[in-house]
Amino acid sequence: MALPLVLDSPHSGETYPDDFDHAPPRPIVRRAEDTHVGRLYAAAPACGATLIEARFPRAYIDPNRSLDDIDPALIADTWPRPLTPSRKTELGIGLVWRLAEGGVPMYARPLTAAEVQRRIDRCYAPYHAALAAELDACHHAFGAVWHLNCHSMPAVGDAMSDDPGRARAEFVLGDRDGTTCGTDFTAFVGRTLRGFGYDVAVNDPYKGVEIVRRHGRPAENRHSLQIEVNRRLYMDEVTLERNAGYARLEADLERLCAALAAYVRERL
Ligand SMILES: [Zn+2]
Repeated sequence: MALPLVLDSPHSGETYPDDFDHAPPRPIVRRAEDTHVGRLYAAAPACGATLIEARFPRAYIDPNRSLDDIDPALIADTWPRPLTPSRKTELGIGLVWRLAEGGVPMYARPLTAAEVQRRIDRCYAPYHAALAAELDACHHAFGAVWHLNCHSMPAVGDAMSDDPGRARAEFVLGDRDGTTCGTDFTAFVGRTLRGFGYDVAVNDPYKGVEIVRRHGRPAENRHSLQIEVNRRLYMDEVTLERNAGYARLEADLERLCAALAAYVRERL
């Protein structure tokens, strides 16, 4: 790595495994994706950062959930470890999504515990291992690491969110109420985006979930911040096609990456 700056995009994977026998048509299932997010940050490596992107789709297994966030109703037999279903599971969007867009069931049958375990072993665990290895390598080499966990969000809260019907800000930053990174990092990213003309909310409605919770330890100089960009800025949310705003957003995210690189350099 050139700089201890890591970006990851856990939800933009578009490679649908053969054993993902979802019930709704693929275009409905694909609306769970943060489509294009990995591509939107493609300039990050040229700025000295590392960019890690999941290839598997988040509706298949969601890396931004904890391993015990499983809905027991999804499992045909018995899950071998204790479960702690969260609010996300209640909304149908836990580790393995029970519902697709519009609240329709994702599966026509319950899954076996072995099937879910295979998804963890083949997708979830390698993703977290790759991210942890890069963050650890950066921290080892530089004594600090800054991590941007990159997502996109529907323009308006839907039935599977805690803010149905509400229009979202253009960007939402989440540091789990100041616990996953230094407050200065959140403030810097917010200031930079506002300087580009965007409206930015913090921890509302998204505070950050498993990835920043697991990897962000500001007391050890490990700073993880979740960033959500509003999908209406760059795509049609039904067709997933890029819209007229895509190029501007892509250019602004390149400027954000350059600004982050300068921020990190100043702190080494
Ligand atoms: Zn996401």
